[in-house]
Amino acid sequence: MSGDFVEIVEVSPRDGIQNEPTLLSTDDKLELIGRALDAGLRRMEVTSFVNPKRVPQMADAEAVAAGLPTDRGGRYIGLTLNRRGFDRAVACGLREANYALVASETFNIRNQGVPTDDSIAAFAEIRQSAPADVTVSLTVGAAFGCPFEGEVPLARLMAVIEACMVHAPAELALADTIGVATPADIKARISAVRSAFPDVPLRLHLHNTRNTGIANAWAGIEAGVRCLDASLGGVGGCPFAPRATGNIPTEDLVYMLERSGVKTGVSLEAAMDAALWLEGKLEKTVPGMVMKAGGFPKPQGEPGSSPRAA
Ligand code: ZN
Repeated sequence: MSGDFVEIVEVSPRDGIQNEPTLLSTDDKLELIGRALDAGLRRMEVTSFVNPKRVPQMADAEAVAAGLPTDRGGRYIGLTLNRRGFDRAVACGLREANYALVASETFNIRNQGVPTDDSIAAFAEIRQSAPADVTVSLTVGAAFGCPFEGEVPLARLMAVIEACMVHAPAELALADTIGVATPADIKARISAVRSAFPDVPLRLHLHNTRNTGIANAWAGIEAGVRCLDASLGGVGGCPFAPRATGNIPTEDLVYMLERSGVKTGVSLEAAMDAALWLEGKLEKTVPGMVMKAGGFPKPQGEPGSSPRAA
């Protein structure tokens, strides 16, 4: 894996803050996106097109989309759960939509408002009618476990994925929405998907609810995944998944990967700065660990950067 490149999709502007009681202004969200760009993060989930009554933090989706910098190489994604959300994302100029549905029926009904099969049917319709210049990727939530139904059998996950793959998503993400997966689960499910669909680009969306997130990220990379979602500071949660906590912290992932010889294109120092800025805006301690400890070795010139003689 050393020498490989892993793409990090920054999701703090969407998954990261959607469940935060402190509402960020549109300008703050755009500053967060700018700071992520400063750090070298290029692909970002910037907002979601959902009912603002259900997710008030995302009520300014159109304003965020309108304010995105167009001259900095950013590739911006809007999260959509249905046709209406997809149409809103396209109407405000986004060129990638991440369509999300859930592997378990109960969670899909709670989160998407319809049974999983209806979400699959809507995905089919979106894929058939999407403008040619709009990329439609797919995220399957609760791919490793459901807060309401418990275990999600592999056969159920594969049945949902197979029904979706007929409609050729540009990329397929497995989401551990409630952070229950272990590295063994990641390897087993990624290899099952990879065997069935050898060519589709795979992405992992991991939450660190039970402290397995970073280990799961590494397991995913060992299993061949080259794209991971992460959130500055490890912020995040799901309004419809009880006790779900944050995504894997972007800067912790960058630290692990770069120190392992895996390139990310992300500056650890700038990512830590952005995470600290976000922590200040949210007015609470966020879960990221490297932002508290600092990188290693420390950059030249900082106190402690040169080892003391014994
Ligand atoms: Zn999530």
